[in-house]
Amino acid sequence: DVPLLSVRDLKTYYFLDEGTVRAVDGVSFDIYPGQVVGVVGESGCGKSVTGRSILRIVGPPGRIVDGQILFRPQKTSLPLPERATDDGFVDLAALDPRGKAMRSLRGAEIALIPQEPMAAFSPVHTIGFQLVEAIRLHQPVDEATARQMAIQRLREVGVPSPEQRMDAYSWELSGGLRQRAVIAMALACNPSLLIADEPTTAIDVTTQAQVIHLLRALQREHNMAILFITHDLGIIAQIASYVVVMYLGQVVERGPVEAVFRQPQHPYTQALLRSIPSIFAPSRTLLPTIEGSIPHPFNRPPGCPFHPRCPAFMPGTCDRHTPTLQPVNERQWASCFLYHPPVMEPEHQGQAL
Ligand code: SF4
Ligand code: MG
Repeated sequence: DVPLLSVRDLKTYYFLDEGTVRAVDGVSFDIYPGQVVGVVGESGCGKSVTGRSILRIVGPPGRIVDGQILFRPQKTSLPLPERATDDGFVDLAALDPRGKAMRSLRGAEIALIPQEPMAAFSPVHTIGFQLVEAIRLHQPVDEATARQMAIQRLREVGVPSPEQRMDAYSWELSGGLRQRAVIAMALACNPSLLIADEPTTAIDVTTQAQVIHLLRALQREHNMAILFITHDLGIIAQIASYVVVMYLGQVVERGPVEAVFRQPQHPYTQALLRSIPSIFAPSRTLLPTIEGSIPHPFNRPPGCPFHPRCPAFMPGTCDRHTPTLQPVNERQWASCFLYHPPVMEPEHQGQAL
């Protein structure tokens, strides 16, 4: 199988006056066509910045400083940019974010459901106007056809009386309807990869469940891949088949959802799972959230970034050496010294560990 997207050692840093924030610091994972991959972690772990890096919408003072974002466009009608490899991959990290290639991929191949639903629409134009624009930007159809396609999209996402809603403004809609319109907007051009950034945070729990159900149905129908960004492991269990767990800009564990939920390897994943009512082990009781707080981004702990909060902390090892993501078993990867010994750097050789 060939991935649709292969993120390799991605680094996106923010250069602020106070210092450099390594928001994404060496992230690697793959997404296969039609696969739903969840990215989970607490706020500030770099999950949104990962999504925004893929779309190349990280603005100053943020910048991709290293790594590759290899993407395989699925639509043959797209002009393949010069940097395409023999096997059809384009390195998005190497494209001009404002250039023609990236603009043609954004929306048509890779679409975003933003964290803030109001951000998806301009308040001064109707929903219908913006849907028609989005459709015509990437598809050679006339206005009447685009209008019919837009109505069809709204119907597909469960907006009642879609013809009338075309003339509504986003701020006139209820939270649930607006979220559906946002999804219609993201799906306007049938993207092969949808990046959904906390798409259910701004809506109530009942609507949340409906939106998850809707996304799953649309994903199956269109065989669309989804990168689902959330802080909620419960949502991951409902929608994703593979999960990437992030902490302080790094992947601490990744693997198939069912393996990671049954046997979390990294102490951080274990703590995250203990902090929610478990879906896979209903007998487990609800425990308090993870002890300690996330370090300030300018004060990254030395060694393993999780060591100040880790119940399995090994003094002299975890605070002096930095673990790397490695296979733990046939399916899971983890970045933790419980599974691999630290590589001794020359100055530490000979010292007892
Ligand atoms: Fe905990 Fe050490 Fe593993 Fe980090 S490397 S997660 S501190 S045991
Ligand atoms: Mg975020």
